[in-house]
Amino acid sequence: MELQHKDSTQSKGTCTCSWCKGSGKRGRRTCPDCNGSGTLYLVDCPDCLGTGVSRDRGVCKTCKGKKAVSSVEADRIHTAREKYDGYLQNPAGVFFKSIACYIAIAFTARSVWDQMCVTLEFLFDAEMIFPSGFILLLALSLLFKQWNNLIKGSTNDADGSKPRTIGTVLFIVGILTAIIAGPVTSDGFGWMESKAKNTLNDKILKPSSVQCLEVELSRKVDYTYFGKAKMSNGESKDIVARFVKTGLFCLIKKSNFERSKMFFHVS
Ligand SMILES: [Zn+2]
Ligand SMILES: [Zn+2]
Repeated sequence: MELQHKDSTQSKGTCTCSWCKGSGKRGRRTCPDCNGSGTLYLVDCPDCLGTGVSRDRGVCKTCKGKKAVSSVEADRIHTAREKYDGYLQNPAGVFFKSIACYIAIAFTARSVWDQMCVTLEFLFDAEMIFPSGFILLLALSLLFKQWNNLIKGSTNDADGSKPRTIGTVLFIVGILTAIIAGPVTSDGFGWMESKAKNTLNDKILKPSSVQCLEVELSRKVDYTYFGKAKMSNGESKDIVARFVKTGLFCLIKKSNFERSKMFFHVS
């Protein structure tokens, strides 16, 4: 390891940035951890305070006995340790946070899944992804972060195995909630059903006439869906709903949100 003494009070030399592997780039962006330099300063390991020895007198697991970690890693360890200490003081907190995440996941996973069943283009479309997809991703990433902090924050804690297991279980329950609320219990037609109902009422039926209360789709062939529409006068009508995609090129133009047009035949 090459030593540099630019910052004699803190620096213990430099190391290759492990997040960009020294290239200074992550994809097309400049690596935010080393600001494109490809190297990071080493500082005392915050877990063993630069001794390389853990509290139970073993080799420090965080720095693996090397006594120093990169400055970026040290920041992350500090944050994780703070969160972990927070957990030790108030274990119930992580459960309340997790339950809030599960509720958010249970409410949003269905509509994201139903949209995905129709078109993956929603990934590029602000109108279609928000707010369900945003909330779903946020809730899942909060659970993932919580898990990560409990693992990282407890690395050298001899009693850390229980919090680590709890963090892991809480994250897995979040994934399972998303799978159960989405693919397991949904037939995948929900998004098309609400789009079909709205299009019928807003664009095809006159406001004064009989309105559609509910659309129940039961099968599809490519982008054509077949089912029944329940009308306000008690009738049930056969309905064909077609999801029409226009060219992918339109995706690039932000102004063109009208590309997902629906055409209906009601008989
Ligand atoms: Zn880097
Ligand atoms: Zn250490």
